[in-house]
Amino acid sequence: MKKKLLLTAVVLVVIVVTLFLLADRATAPTRESSEQTEQGSSEPAEIIEQSPDELGFDMNKYSIEEPGSIWWIVNRERPLPEGYVPPDLTVPDVRLRLNASAEQMQFRQIALPALKEMFVAAQADGVELVFGSGYRSEALQRQFYESYVARDGQAAADRYSARPGTSEHQTGLAVDVTSPNLACHLEICFENTPQGQWVADNAHIYGFIIRYLEGKENITGYQYEPWHLRYVGKELAAELHQTGQTMEEFFNVVAYRPRVLAMARLGSCSCCC
Ligand SMILES: [Zn+2]
Repeated sequence: MKKKLLLTAVVLVVIVVTLFLLADRATAPTRESSEQTEQGSSEPAEIIEQSPDELGFDMNKYSIEEPGSIWWIVNRERPLPEGYVPPDLTVPDVRLRLNASAEQMQFRQIALPALKEMFVAAQADGVELVFGSGYRSEALQRQFYESYVARDGQAAADRYSARPGTSEHQTGLAVDVTSPNLACHLEICFENTPQGQWVADNAHIYGFIIRYLEGKENITGYQYEPWHLRYVGKELAAELHQTGQTMEEFFNVVAYRPRVLAMARLGSCSCCC
């Protein structure tokens, strides 16, 4: 009887040990492969730590040279082609500062959905934005500029007004936003109004950037304009907002000649950049 029990116990031990060894062999490759998986998964983790540029921001997705491109860079050194008129000017369906028939109350159709989306989002946050000035033809800019020259002289006018053919407003992609009561309209203190604060925090979400940033006068050639928004599309707006860069810095292009910069520092470009 004892022998039978002993034999049974031995057989059971042998079976258990055999099963254990088989199981161990079977799991061994699994363990290896799981380690491989872990090693493999460490690569995406490294990529996440890289900057968005390294992740593949396509700097050439749109042209910065081609008239009409949403990334087109216009500044004192990069004038528009003579007499350029955007192909798709439309009166936006948002609150306007002037009568809808006024030339300045137009914007490019291509940017209208984003503009509307931004105005609606601001309103949902309790902030009423007003479309202060959008497209300006070369002729209108000339009219402004020449009136300033007549009043203050050319040197003085150059300190605060863009010369005809160099204003970003002529692209139809730039807009000066304001508030219903025109508080701090075209003044630096606009940044402290609910409208100014809202666009600083949110405009990039809708594809707009504050084009002339504070402390970047040396780069853009223009003083800080918290009201002047430029449509560049959501991708680039997010990138510029995140990095705090101007278009000139991001694309490494020149914005001014030193003598123009000296003048820009002196004057306030308060209405006609
Ligand atoms: Zn402007």
